[in-house]
Amino acid sequence: MRIVIKIGTSTLAHKTGRINIRRVEKLCKVISDLKNQGHELIMVSSGAIGMGVGKLSLQGKPDDIPTKQAAAAVGQCELMYIYDKLFSEYNHTVAQILVTDADIECDERRTNFENTMRRLLELGAIPIINENDSIATAEIVIGDNDTLGAIVAKNLQADLLIILSDIDGLFTADPHKDNNAVLLHTVSEITSEIEEMTGGSVSGLGTGGMTTKLKAAKIVTESGTDMVIANGDDPDILYDIVDGKDIGTRFIAKGKA
Ligand code: GLU
Repeated sequence: MRIVIKIGTSTLAHKTGRINIRRVEKLCKVISDLKNQGHELIMVSSGAIGMGVGKLSLQGKPDDIPTKQAAAAVGQCELMYIYDKLFSEYNHTVAQILVTDADIECDERRTNFENTMRRLLELGAIPIINENDSIATAEIVIGDNDTLGAIVAKNLQADLLIILSDIDGLFTADPHKDNNAVLLHTVSEITSEIEEMTGGSVSGLGTGGMTTKLKAAKIVTESGTDMVIANGDDPDILYDIVDGKDIGTRFIAKGKA
């Protein structure tokens, strides 16, 4: 299978913005093992701004654009340094690709991106993609990595997009506020009722929330790719998701339902 795994800041970093070493070590181990099984793995990793915040000892996520972009520039290095180091332990090679919306909108640049991605996969590397936060401006910003993950999965005809976050999946109501909220295991159609279930929740250093995850689910399911939202607390969960077990919320691709 060709699998895109999107990892949110809340999975990668502690609330301080500093890396969650135990979690990221395990994540790289499991992803390496899935690759050893013969799957093609592509990562869409957030965490640049969050880790920049930690490394520069800033007081929380900055509001102004230059500080955010500076934090991303620092954090992206840290992120790739850690991935390179950890994947190397399992004899895997990582590759960094940073994109903006302008790269996806322009046919020529998107084709270049796809060609590079395909070649990296043929060469056995693990591409790690993020938005180029240090240069993206309002006009060319994709804005969140759930959407970026969906764009990548769609353009590379992935079999599965996995979104790892700090929530177990899609609930009928906000589980933090409503004790009766129930986890939906399978969604075969994104109805207006489902859309109403999503609050605007965003975790501390991250960007998305359920709204962007649903938007991502729409993009991929329409292009024939399944998507799973699951809790990234324990990266071992990836084995079960890839095995098709009932974990988190699975959005079934159109035509497969
Ligand atoms: N690109 C952002 C970062 O690396 C994250 C965007 C998101 O969390 O969706 O910090």
